[in-house]
Amino acid sequence: KIRVRFAPSPTGPLHMGGVRTALYNYLFAKKNGGTFILRIEDTDEKRFVPGAKEYILESLKWCGIEPTEGEGYGGEKGPYTQSERKHIYPQYAQQLIDNGHAYLAFDTSEDLETMREQAKTMGLANWQYNATTRSSMKNSLSLSKEEVEKRLANKEPYTIRIKMPRNTEIKFEDEIRGWVSVNTNNLDDKVLVKETGVPTYHLANIVDDHLMEISHVIRGEEWLPSAPLHVFLYDSFGWDRPKFAHLPLILRPDGKGKLSKRDGDKLGFPVFPIDWLSVEGEKYSGYKENGYLPEAFINMLAFLGWNPGDNKEIFSLKELEETFTLQRVGKSGARFDPEKTKWFNQQYLRALSNEQLAEMLKPILAEKQYDYDATYAAKVCGLMKERATFIADILNEGDYFFTTISEYDAKTVQKKWKADTKEIMLELTEVLSNVEDFTEANIEAAFSNYLAKNEYGFGKVGPGFRLLVTGKGMGPSMFEICETLGKTIVMKRMSEGID
Ligand code: GLU
Repeated sequence: KIRVRFAPSPTGPLHMGGVRTALYNYLFAKKNGGTFILRIEDTDEKRFVPGAKEYILESLKWCGIEPTEGEGYGGEKGPYTQSERKHIYPQYAQQLIDNGHAYLAFDTSEDLETMREQAKTMGLANWQYNATTRSSMKNSLSLSKEEVEKRLANKEPYTIRIKMPRNTEIKFEDEIRGWVSVNTNNLDDKVLVKETGVPTYHLANIVDDHLMEISHVIRGEEWLPSAPLHVFLYDSFGWDRPKFAHLPLILRPDGKGKLSKRDGDKLGFPVFPIDWLSVEGEKYSGYKENGYLPEAFINMLAFLGWNPGDNKEIFSLKELEETFTLQRVGKSGARFDPEKTKWFNQQYLRALSNEQLAEMLKPILAEKQYDYDATYAAKVCGLMKERATFIADILNEGDYFFTTISEYDAKTVQKKWKADTKEIMLELTEVLSNVEDFTEANIEAAFSNYLAKNEYGFGKVGPGFRLLVTGKGMGPSMFEICETLGKTIVMKRMSEGID
């Protein structure tokens, strides 16, 4: 049975790296007829941010990659938020103590600081609390049973630590990276239960993955260093290990380092699915509010670390569900490309029907208090969509369809409005006023006829015509624009604009 989970910590907004992890888990589950579970890992109370959990749920929904089990979705293995599972963990910590894989450590933070300082003066840069150093800690494993009991009776605070064996190889096969092998001398005795009695991420994560019968742990590369400990924990409990797959890093556009949430703001692109405004007033912009379609965002994300092995780039979610495999996820960092992201949006925008686009344009028009007519808006969208990356571009580039011209493009005026343009425009106005049935074909015929008769090239008449009717130097076919605007408006703009 394939069961995978996305296990974010509600410590802030969901970065697109997190969404990619969710997406790959989702796709892997779909492809293999498995279950995709959402678990909220909020054991780090200090880093908990109100609103973050709701943000995560909302983001997954917007992306269209909703779990079928888990927080907000229910299921038989709940609760799915770790703070509601506190009663579950102590027995497992006890189990490890009982079988000798964990121990109580009464070190105070001053003790630990002293050890670190001592190590530094001895020239040991990376002091670790592990099998080689813990014997020098007076307050842990070296304590006699009686001493431990005395301290417990005195209610001295303690943590529970894993007991890493000395000089032992821990090996596991990662689905993406192949064999990973680490010597335990390089691992420390991580804290499993804090002084407060709250489990750390490591313990809660393993216990929950086991109890929720997770078959594959698919997560970001930043968790690879923790994987040997996790493997050791499974072995210490005597549980079957899940399979592990660590996804490659997402790199900045320049390839220099990991993409951070601040990069987006600095370099001018969103890194969050939807806008984030934290309680401390931290504001980061999202794909949704920047006008991206969720399908385009997801398609782009799918390619950050995975490829189908051929040249096909446009994949609907359904197609991704059918095509995705972990075998085609790469090991090396995937560079994020903001331009490519825009390209994806453009492709998806163009693929929508004019009516769908009109519907999307509606709130943008309302915001500007422009009138909305579905048929008219659809016609405009049909004309403009080839030039748009975002729905808002249709209005930005085609405002003249909805409002009067407030200014004429200065460059075009300067370059194209020649001494004889006014005369020509007066004539053209006259010609167009005689077109009875104001259709694209009729307007074009009259226009071409006028050019031919006077032996004018298009460049002599076209730019002035466009300037008068739209105020712009570029745009779609003038004949289609004129038909869409209608004769009354075209004639009004021509005659009033000439002076
Ligand atoms: N809570 C961890 C995180 O925030 C989950 C890591 C994992 O998937 O094991 O990323």
